[in-house]
Amino acid sequence: MKIRDILSQGRPTLSFEVFPPKTEDHYETVETAARQIAGLSPDFMSVTYGAGGGTSRYTAEIAAVLNNEYQVPALAHLTCVSSTRDHVRHVLEELKERGIENVLALRGDIPPDGRIAHDYRYASELICDIRRSGDFCIGAACYPEGHVESANKTADITYLKEKVEAGCDFVTTQMFFDNNILYNYLYRIRERGITVPVVAGIMPVTNGSQIKRICQMSGTYLPSRFKAMVDRFGDRPAAMKQAGIAYATEQIIDLIANGVNGIHVYSMNKPDVAARIRENLSEILGPQR
Ligand code: FAD
Repeated sequence: MKIRDILSQGRPTLSFEVFPPKTEDHYETVETAARQIAGLSPDFMSVTYGAGGGTSRYTAEIAAVLNNEYQVPALAHLTCVSSTRDHVRHVLEELKERGIENVLALRGDIPPDGRIAHDYRYASELICDIRRSGDFCIGAACYPEGHVESANKTADITYLKEKVEAGCDFVTTQMFFDNNILYNYLYRIRERGITVPVVAGIMPVTNGSQIKRICQMSGTYLPSRFKAMVDRFGDRPAAMKQAGIAYATEQIIDLIANGVNGIHVYSMNKPDVAARIRENLSEILGPQR
């Protein structure tokens, strides 16, 4: 099923994300986690893509398990920064063969040791190629706080518009911890004529190392309420997990209450975290399918 059709149903949707293993050794663990999350019957699940090769070969494999064994529509991420057009064509053919109808078209981060190909500069070019290569539903990334490389937020929205005009059907946001940032962003992009559905990306922060990574990612604003939670519970793993899930749940409830229907949880291969969030929303979303 195409995600654009799911998002147009006018009801809240909940989706989860998994990332493939870096090496074959971890494949089974990741696949098991993905299967457990799929067992929660989310509206769809996304599978990330390793920009520099690495995990990329498992994306299609895990997406196919979700799609074909669990009937959970899979969204396969695809980056282009280090890909040739031939490689992209090959990946799209593989996705088609496996029955995957949804692709999140990304540029990917520029590798620190340099690109191995220069066929693509921006995600909008990838979107054009995907659009030409078959009947895919295409998603793209967006950044309520601006992308780190952007000169300013206005330019970032201009380039987002290019992605939509190139043919993307919906956009998913980078994580954010203050919903007002998303509400302001929605106002600004709607004002610029971007009307595709926006899926809000929510990260339940459940451990200290995750927080460190987030802090390193410049641009993500941490509200004082969030910082207080981390200060108080950051060195108590079980308490941090409980608090992080509660924080994410509150964010989601506020978003849905304010009409943001598309909720995507960066569940980081953690079925227990996904399950607790699903449970916390049981009355809001209705019973599991
Ligand atoms: P683009 O949309 O191409 O934008 C990149 C930068 O170029 C931005 O600063 C933009 O403003 C600017 N720009 C765009 N077009 C132009 C133009 N015509 N002229 C000048 N400047 C322009 N990374 C992975 O490796 N694998 C994943 O699976 C993955 N999944 C992600 C999922 C989501 C929801 C998000 C938000 C990010 C994800 N990323 C992933 C990270 C993403 O690859 C990086 O943020 C990357 O740096 C930008 O990708 P993009 O597709 O947004 O790029």
